[in-house]
Amino acid sequence: MSAISFAGLAAQSADFMFTNATVLTMNEQKAVYEQGTVVVKDDKIIAVGDAELASEYKAQTVMDVAGDIVMPGLINTHTHASMTVFRSLGDDVPDRLHRYIFPLEAKLVARDMVRIGAQLGNVEMVKGGVTTYADMYYFEDEVAKTVDEIGMRAVLGQTVIQFPVADAENAQAGIQYALNFIEQYKDHPRITPAFAPHAPYTNTTETLQEISRLSLEHDVPVMIHLAESAREREVIAERSGGLSPVAYMADIGALNHNLVAAHAIDIDDADIALLKQYDVGVAHNMSANIKSAKGVSPAIDMLAADVRIGLGTDGPMSGNTLSTIDEFNQVAKVHKLVNRDRAAMPPTDVIEMATIGAARALHMEDEIGSLEVGKQADIIVIDTKAPNMVPMYNPYSALVYSAYANNVQHSMVAGELLMKDRQVLTVDENQVRIEAQKFADVVRQSVIESGEEIR
Ligand SMILES: [Zn+2]
Repeated sequence: MSAISFAGLAAQSADFMFTNATVLTMNEQKAVYEQGTVVVKDDKIIAVGDAELASEYKAQTVMDVAGDIVMPGLINTHTHASMTVFRSLGDDVPDRLHRYIFPLEAKLVARDMVRIGAQLGNVEMVKGGVTTYADMYYFEDEVAKTVDEIGMRAVLGQTVIQFPVADAENAQAGIQYALNFIEQYKDHPRITPAFAPHAPYTNTTETLQEISRLSLEHDVPVMIHLAESAREREVIAERSGGLSPVAYMADIGALNHNLVAAHAIDIDDADIALLKQYDVGVAHNMSANIKSAKGVSPAIDMLAADVRIGLGTDGPMSGNTLSTIDEFNQVAKVHKLVNRDRAAMPPTDVIEMATIGAARALHMEDEIGSLEVGKQADIIVIDTKAPNMVPMYNPYSALVYSAYANNVQHSMVAGELLMKDRQVLTVDENQVRIEAQKFADVVRQSVIESGEEIR
């Protein structure tokens, strides 16, 4: 019996196989396979390797990607997907938060708005290669329904804030809403329900402590905006007798391994040591932070200190896109500029922060973030025949400095194809867009009635 027919006879069954791929595994060794193979069965990756590996498996579907990049799905560690309906409104108005965002939210945040915005955000993210995202907003049970429907993976944080908001009249009601949501979704295979206290300065010490305790009791994440602005530093210093926001959170017992801190711009070495000590995850949102002129988070120092850190887009009123591919370029270049070092933040670090690093930031690295046997089959394919991707000497460099979000060709979550040849398979993209456009008329009317202009 020849070796070839022996291999044929012994072939193991599989559901899906990518062949002839430039495989970026993002495993510990950052192994890359030219003409590589990735094999999927049910919701998991069962083999990753070189061309030869393909002969050991018989898959129901084989996709020969002809040299395209096959890599882990991107993970967006911080967003507010439903806010897509407000995108690009009043963009460069200095007091935009008070003139546009707060009045619009006070009038329009409701189940419908949350659902319509999340559906649009989901489609944008799938088309940009994001397979998992972490969200903070209101009515997260509505966001959960949209995530379930499109087939993505998400960590969904129900907002807790001390002011009256659309889904809770105070922080206690917000906590109760979150507890109900957690109970409802705790066993969902792709959705992780979470608490999302808005920020330290918009919640009391008691609320932050209670959420920390409940998160440990229910073993769920806590997402928060932390160390984002000078105003936050002032309020917290006044409250705590001079502590930084991070030191204050440690002091009150609210830093732990469930916490994911968005921004971490205004931090020093002592804060970074605390983030490491308490095993906190960090969402690095470059485009939003530079657009709002808030500053540049010392992500390089956090990487050096081995802090769990991943890329986020922040909400679409901040960033304004939800695909992390649009962040790559800015993350790589701005860190070079502020450090006056062209070797700073190399492409491998950027891709790490978009994949396995982001998984670590969400404390999900055992499940997602790399192409390794036993992990969830969350996989994207990047078109390397697009003119902007030719030639390709170094796939990491090509991704960071050359790729567009629309170079993402196919996207798979938990072994299910969500997008093939840029067609979203699980929801009706046109319907989603039409509904969002209709809602934009409501937004427009609301702005006009408030006496502001559409700009
Ligand atoms: Zn945010």
